[in-house]
Amino acid sequence: MNGESKKLSGFTSRLLHHPYTAPAGFSAFPEAIHHASTVLFDSVAAMRARSWQDKSAYTYGLHGTPTSFTLEARLAAIEGGQHCLLAPSGLAAIMLVDMALLSSGDDVLIPDNVYGPNRELALWLSQSFGISVRFYPPLIGADIAGLIQENTKLIWTEAPGSVSMEVPDIPAICAAADARGVLVALDNTWSGGIAFQAFQHGVDISMQALTKYQSGGSDVLMGALITRDKDLNQRLQMAHMRLGMGVGMDDVYLILRNLPTLKLRFEAHDRSATEIARWLSARPEIHKVLHPALPDCPGHDIWKRDFTGAGGLFSVLFNPAFSEAQTDCFVESLHLFKIGFSWGGAHSLCVPYRIRQMRSQWEEQGNLVRFNIGLEETEDLIADIEQALGKMKKTG
Ligand SMILES: *Cc1c(COP(=O)(O)O)cnc(C)c1O
Repeated sequence: MNGESKKLSGFTSRLLHHPYTAPAGFSAFPEAIHHASTVLFDSVAAMRARSWQDKSAYTYGLHGTPTSFTLEARLAAIEGGQHCLLAPSGLAAIMLVDMALLSSGDDVLIPDNVYGPNRELALWLSQSFGISVRFYPPLIGADIAGLIQENTKLIWTEAPGSVSMEVPDIPAICAAADARGVLVALDNTWSGGIAFQAFQHGVDISMQALTKYQSGGSDVLMGALITRDKDLNQRLQMAHMRLGMGVGMDDVYLILRNLPTLKLRFEAHDRSATEIARWLSARPEIHKVLHPALPDCPGHDIWKRDFTGAGGLFSVLFNPAFSEAQTDCFVESLHLFKIGFSWGGAHSLCVPYRIRQMRSQWEEQGNLVRFNIGLEETEDLIADIEQALGKMKKTG
């Protein structure tokens, strides 16, 4: 058909049907960015034969191009999974799980320390969609068996929980769920899929906010659902199609570009964060350091048993003698740590949380501040924290 363009007289027609195609055989390390809404077929028969669910071929941009298929395959490989679906954000991936697996009349169990927007979504499902939502204490372990009902279809887990960092006993929860045929989804973002092997510990769906470590650039929003079971992946895929959760290929490329350094960055965050957490645990201004690798953190023993690392995110509880105005002053006195949500990027961040308003139960004393330890040198970060603690103490 290319040859016909010579006969075309219209400017735009000539341009659109220009016969040049670049020579084949180009080879380089970066993945090509294949943009497409429309995907072309060689014949009507080929068009009719292709299924959007079968990722051996292409049908429509919403279901992927070679660029997104490549990222999916690599993400599945990191966690020892078989299938992967991309979503436009981590929260969108969470919603996919809920929409795919829950119907009105069903029941879902969610840890009380879950990522805030996951909780918010669950409350919406409960208020507007007839789904029963119950929050369980994060350290419940095998006792979750007592909460499972006939209509329980899904148990969410998060390891460790956002902000307050309790490490749950995932194998015990999975064993109880499995005995009753209930699926377990894990928000595995904290470990980046590196420090915790979700499937070896019995999880059915590993959810990742790629926005964090996989991106590493504080620039992209994306989520992923990784599974081993084909049927389960197909249920998620149906919801993915129905909800139209496409992702942009430029964003996919940015994640592919940073994936080779994922483990190195994670380990660098981990080394620095552990050192800073230890330093903080010896400071009189700090009541408790909620870092899974430190004994003050609830579930520390489980972390030691099940995890191989910790990454850059942890929280502290200040000595209750310090007011909120003082701990806010600490946060604002930091120079290298910026105030902002998210984590997993190169820059250090710090956020104060009003934890009592976020939880149905919270017994601890002292104001909570969460750190994302970036890639700045550890001694610079410690010096920054030290001077900010000094400024805080000078304010009444
Ligand atoms: C950031 C985050 C999410 C959501 O990811 P977004 O891409 O920001 O929607 C989900 N779970 C955890 C634990 C997160 O930290």
